[in-house]
Amino acid sequence: MRIATGLIVAVSLCASGTAWSQTPPSKPATTTQGAAPQAPPAATPATAAAAAQPPQPARAQCTNPNALGVARTVEIDTTGGPGFGFEHFKELDFLRDHEVVLTFDDGPWPENTPSVLKTLAEECTTGIFFSIGKHATYYPEILKQVYAAGHTIGSHTWSHATLTNKKLTEDQRKEEIEKGISAVKWALGGVSEAPFFRFPALQHPPEMVTYLGTRNIAMFSCDLDSFDFKARNAKQVIDVTMKKLNKLGKGIILMHDFHKHTAEALPELLHTLKAGGYKVVAMKAKAPVQSLPEFDEQIIKDAKLPTVSQRPVSSVVTDVTQ
Ligand SMILES: [Zn+2]
Repeated sequence: MRIATGLIVAVSLCASGTAWSQTPPSKPATTTQGAAPQAPPAATPATAAAAAQPPQPARAQCTNPNALGVARTVEIDTTGGPGFGFEHFKELDFLRDHEVVLTFDDGPWPENTPSVLKTLAEECTTGIFFSIGKHATYYPEILKQVYAAGHTIGSHTWSHATLTNKKLTEDQRKEEIEKGISAVKWALGGVSEAPFFRFPALQHPPEMVTYLGTRNIAMFSCDLDSFDFKARNAKQVIDVTMKKLNKLGKGIILMHDFHKHTAEALPELLHTLKAGGYKVVAMKAKAPVQSLPEFDEQIIKDAKLPTVSQRPVSSVVTDVTQ
């Protein structure tokens, strides 16, 4: 369904601040300058976007009888770019009382993302990971672990640029979105992620909301922000989150697997959710995102990466004569 831009609230109540440190581990950051994106295709049903790719691995069998678990899984038809999270999008109220969706932004990142994965596995539960494109290219192996564990992966732009920044042209904004999508796909070894997108700092330029609608990509704001990026310690992450959640009674929770305090807070936070009678809802996409080939190519070129193929030599090179 199409979301009218009139539904977008201009002032964010759960904006997540400025761009994070994105220092690459070993190579300079590339810029977002480059070829201007071409006009997107007209909106088509998301199911038509279903690429022939193998199904995602399922979450591991749960062996913890006291785990938080997953209460139900919902499948999202992203046709027309629906919006979720009542801070900005107020049409789709699908969560029942005491249901939550866990979301994690800005990864993948060493130590913190694997720690979050470990905690989610121990509690047999799941979340959506909105990965920054650059971070995905730094740590593809970590993002592959997120995917292999059965969690949903979406994207969060290429470089975490605030897309309402007036210095950016419309083409540069589209490029931030598209390159982020292609980078996540590259990091997953060519497997397309969900057509789920979160705007950095929850700043929603209306023309990009419309653009994502034409691309059949769902947008995620939040119902409550943990403000974990401001927290001085793990306890503060838990206190802020639970205070807001107990007031609302349900919601999409915004956290960051990028942050140490969040990773540290998660075991106790999940215990507290369970004790409070909260249940986790998993959100899956009906079909994967369709990246644009020009940006897939740009990612490979920019990163000077030789190939996305991970096929063994024997499947590529075969003796036909001895
Ligand atoms: Zn972010």
